[in-house]
Amino acid sequence: MGNHTYFLETFGCQMNILDSQLVEGQLRAHGMNPVADYRDAGVILFNTCSVREHAEHKVISRLGRLRSFKRDNPDTIIGVIGCMAEREKEGVFAKAPHVDLLCGPGELNALPALIDEVRRRNERVTALAGSLSRRTEVLQRALEYDSLEALNLSRTPDLEGEVLQSYIRVQRGCDKFCTYCVVPFTRGAERSRPATHIVDEAVMLAERGCREITLLGQTVNSYVHQQGGRAVPFARLLERVSDVAGIDRIRFVTSYPADWDEDIFRVMRDHPRVMPYLHIPAQSGSDRMLRGMKRGYTVASYLELMDTARKYVPDIALAGDMIVGFCGESEADFRATVELARRVEYQNLFVFKYSPRPGTKADRNMTDDIPESVKQTRCNELLAVQAEIGAALRQRYVGRTVEVLVEGYSKLTRKARGHGKSELRTRGKSSHAMGRSRSATEQSASGNADRSAFANPQASEQERSSVAANVVPQSAPGETAQLLGRTRHDVIVLFDAPPAYRGALVTVQVESATPHTLFGRVIEVGSPPLAVKPRHDRGGVSLPVAPNAAVVSD
Ligand code: SAM
Ligand code: SF4
Repeated sequence: MGNHTYFLETFGCQMNILDSQLVEGQLRAHGMNPVADYRDAGVILFNTCSVREHAEHKVISRLGRLRSFKRDNPDTIIGVIGCMAEREKEGVFAKAPHVDLLCGPGELNALPALIDEVRRRNERVTALAGSLSRRTEVLQRALEYDSLEALNLSRTPDLEGEVLQSYIRVQRGCDKFCTYCVVPFTRGAERSRPATHIVDEAVMLAERGCREITLLGQTVNSYVHQQGGRAVPFARLLERVSDVAGIDRIRFVTSYPADWDEDIFRVMRDHPRVMPYLHIPAQSGSDRMLRGMKRGYTVASYLELMDTARKYVPDIALAGDMIVGFCGESEADFRATVELARRVEYQNLFVFKYSPRPGTKADRNMTDDIPESVKQTRCNELLAVQAEIGAALRQRYVGRTVEVLVEGYSKLTRKARGHGKSELRTRGKSSHAMGRSRSATEQSASGNADRSAFANPQASEQERSSVAANVVPQSAPGETAQLLGRTRHDVIVLFDAPPAYRGALVTVQVESATPHTLFGRVIEVGSPPLAVKPRHDRGGVSLPVAPNAAVVSD
């Protein structure tokens, strides 16, 4: 085990995946190298999630398994970073006294220095927003923002798997304070990043081989940044990112219904590089529940927004989140949620059982009165309804051709080639653990096609980086394998093709569909994969190939 090695496991949302990538960049710049087995690491880090209790339990359980390891290896540094560190603060030490380091999501830029400090002082170190109490709140927010911005600006992705499909943070924090949600407490106040920084990041990523960018924010459509005395709203930012040469696909998550600006639909309609996909959670189909959640819209206004979306972008794919079993949810409230899901016809729906979070308004002022068994039954029913909707939607693709960005091997292929995984042994960079961070019942019945590839259907949006990161491009000439890619609507497609197609936009003829997956055959390579074409000269070239034929390198 070396002092200069680290093992990082990531739990939670896309924001955490991005934070982990940025942290890894910093650790590597600091001369540290990743290892696949925690037992070989000088530093073991968990980037944590607090959105539901279940996610925190997982981290506590991981830490529990490290107790005897730390006793036998006292020099190994164990760190808890991200939302759980921020929420639990020193409480983490009470639950896991062998933890050496706590670092909140706003302080991640300091991580290499914190690790050095633990080594130098041989004592615990914490960097949390709450521990900076001597600063005034305004100054504190500014310093946190600067620290996080420095982390974003330090980005230098050098791992192939990070680049093909990349996240860019456009906004940090959240000011909405939905009554059930811990995010405003763990990630702090909402701040939009300068548009110029975001566009520069997109250019840098494009130059390194990125083809798809997902802009990240808790309420991404609320993005607005003042530049030269003028406000840049999200619609303008989208346009500017879609002008970046080399980026073929732009997505954005998560949208907040109450802040919608119709101009965003115009940009989606007029800019073909902005994908026709909108993740815009309703959370409930009952106005009474929406009021209790303080979501700021009604079911009628949400439905009106979905109708407007379809007016501008008729083939738009809609995705959402629903919470079942929120405080006081009656059978009628739940029926209204099922009704809304049927009415909207989501392509992907992520269903969560309400989990009370300490410090939130719902936890302080409302009663978590829906029994676990009822939450579970409602969750199962909503998932079953969504499975039906998702299956019907995917069936409609059979016989059609779709544009697919090839991400890499399917899970089946990866398994066959021995690229498996095991908890706590593999590096979190490839997000294995993250993919399991929502329980089997807190999942989507929709998005995830490669059943074998993703035990957790959340993966449609959340695990894309894990697929990319696990691709092993070396292959024998003429070899084909089952590959995985996604359509413009974020539907997973499996097909046989040469592994060298990774990174290419291909046209696939869809031959069959299961409730979660399309299966087809490649009929055209729309633009050559990165491997066979210089990066500065990508796109625009049509290179027809026979199905399963190898791409000829130029
Ligand atoms: N900012 C996004 C939005 O408002 O749509 C969502 C961010 S949150 C990290 C992701 C999802 O987790 C939410 O949409 C909600 O469905 C779910 N969630 C948040 N807090 C929860 C809680 N206390 N219990 C269950 N689900 C929760
Ligand atoms: Fe949480 Fe609501 Fe903010 Fe989303 S909008 S992060 S659910 S407080």
